[in-house]
Amino acid sequence: MSTVAANLQALAVRIHSAAEAAGRAPSSVRLLAVSKTKPASAVRELYAAGVSDVGENYLQEALNKQQELADLPLTWHFIGPIQSNKTRAIAEHFDWVHSVDRLKIAQRLSEQRPAGLAPLNVCLQVNVSGEGSKSGCAPADLPALAAAVAALPGLRLRGLMAIPAPSDERAAQERPFAQLRELLGQLEPGLDTLSMGMSHDLEAAIAQGATWVRIGTALFGARDYGAV
Ligand SMILES: *Cc1c(COP(=O)(O)O)cnc(C)c1O
Repeated sequence: MSTVAANLQALAVRIHSAAEAAGRAPSSVRLLAVSKTKPASAVRELYAAGVSDVGENYLQEALNKQQELADLPLTWHFIGPIQSNKTRAIAEHFDWVHSVDRLKIAQRLSEQRPAGLAPLNVCLQVNVSGEGSKSGCAPADLPALAAAVAALPGLRLRGLMAIPAPSDERAAQERPFAQLRELLGQLEPGLDTLSMGMSHDLEAAIAQGATWVRIGTALFGARDYGAV
């Protein structure tokens, strides 16, 4: 078995155990494989092992990989920061965007979504408490942003996403995930997605209701940015 396939088996056990511990159906947690800095060949191995949702942070890297993997029926998710001049390519080449955090970007993605494609699935990225980065909308601004995004014809608002600051402590890991779950509960009904949890904190995220866990390191090994 390849390393990636062995990693996937171990990861599936973690996801399954975390879901059972939370009293959730394991099938309610979906795996998004985050392949940034990793070669197309690693994604191909993972596809052979049964994973078809792939997340990328950098547009050009993603487009290159999409070309190399054009023979596979993969579902592509954009999960990185979005600059205005990248929205057209994102609208054209992805099925999901997890990292929408302002209306201007959402409007551009909606306008630029090709008419022949289904509406782009979108999560709003929220800057939950304790987050180190500057990305993500403030929780106070979320209801208005969600209402405006839900009205855009080229988009289908699915839910929320967050990237809390890493912590080794379970309670500290769960707090921002619980906050994201509560924020989702305050929005219009029908939103079904909580994109939260990475390699180091997926158990805490699943305990708090994650429907997508975004996993890179635990599948592909540590990233070597120097090699890119
Ligand atoms: C890199 C990245 C991940 C995956 O992180 P790992 O710790 O390697 O599992 C998930 N989400 C986002 C937004 C990322 O940038």
